[in-house]
Amino acid sequence: MNDVASIGSMATLTRHAMGDPDADGFFGEFGGRYVPEPLMGACQQVEDAFREAWASDEFRAEYLRLLVDYAGRPSPLTECSNLGRDLGLRLLLKREDLNHTGSHKINNVLGQALLAKRMGKTRLIAETGAGQHGVATATAAALLDMECAVYMGEVDMQRQALNVFRMKLLGAEVIPALSGSRTLKDAVNEAMRAWVSEVEDTHYCLGSVMGPHPYPWMVRSFHEIIGTEAHAQCQRLLGGLPDLAVACVGGGSNAAGLFAGFANEPSVRLVGVEPAGGAAVGRGIPAVVHGMKAYFLQDEVGQIVEAESISAGLDYPGIGPEHSFLADAGRAEYYPVTDDQVVEAFQLLARREGIIPALESAHALAWVVQEKEQLAGKTVLINLSGRGDKDVAQIQERLEK
Ligand SMILES: *Cc1c(COP(=O)(O)O)cnc(C)c1O
Repeated sequence: MNDVASIGSMATLTRHAMGDPDADGFFGEFGGRYVPEPLMGACQQVEDAFREAWASDEFRAEYLRLLVDYAGRPSPLTECSNLGRDLGLRLLLKREDLNHTGSHKINNVLGQALLAKRMGKTRLIAETGAGQHGVATATAAALLDMECAVYMGEVDMQRQALNVFRMKLLGAEVIPALSGSRTLKDAVNEAMRAWVSEVEDTHYCLGSVMGPHPYPWMVRSFHEIIGTEAHAQCQRLLGGLPDLAVACVGGGSNAAGLFAGFANEPSVRLVGVEPAGGAAVGRGIPAVVHGMKAYFLQDEVGQIVEAESISAGLDYPGIGPEHSFLADAGRAEYYPVTDDQVVEAFQLLARREGIIPALESAHALAWVVQEKEQLAGKTVLINLSGRGDKDVAQIQERLEK
């Protein structure tokens, strides 16, 4: 199982699991490419290169080899017997926390970094909020011998000083975003602005299923390995499918990767869990931001509102266009959970299963705990998007204050 050939053949199975966007990059009414003229060409170049590479057996083999030999795929599927018994359901975790760099993010950055090389680029830029995507991008740049610059809100740089140092250790330059609220959405704006003048040698490695076409589609494609593996692993373990596939949603990349493996299975409910303070599907309105049309949290005059959540990795005020579409189409459901529920779920998984999850991932478990009566007897698959080492100090402060 642990070899490139078997993963490779699985990865071919779901080539079009969730459907491609239309020629202009729309999933229904969402998505598109709303960028200034100079970035149109850059996005088109990325799209052309991605289409060509994704159809190439040689590119896929190289990508899958990195996922296996470097990132440690396939990630295991773990059955949680203790917690499952407590909750009265069958609980399975897809262990993206065990990937190199500690989350699903490596799947996407390895794909994009390889693509950038193939395009003849020598430099990667990225935005980061909590720093996880910045660290993953800096890692891929080090591996593939590329230069790297990461845009990060000045406020986030103070809050996540350790990740700033990690990126520097990995050889990346960290550039403070000084505009607006000096957080993630400003880092995205500044990275896009910088890309315009550097596009000759630089690829913009976007960190979630958002931004202008082809990013939402491309990033989802690089994460489909999560759902593809999970589908095969469930077949082997259960002899069938789970009743639900549940994932946390910031921009939506780990959820999109998981959902892609099950979207064609009508019996599987797809559930995305958002922080109550960033519930873009529940409380958002369609808007054009960061190059795409999607659901965003807005105030009365249409200004984008800051998302607020205990987990910095979910502090994005919007949700990707494909999720916006899946929500409207009723194929996937999205629900909010509160910070208190998340902290409880975080502790529960640690105590009952010996797994400390990322606070982001704990959102998915928090929803399952909340719904345990409704879910009694069901088989629930949760994407454990990342590990919680980064969050331990924050939780200690909260619990012991
Ligand atoms: C970045 C991050 C997320 C949120 O991003 P998505 O694009 O919504 O997946 C979730 N979990 C972890 C561990 C992360 O690092």
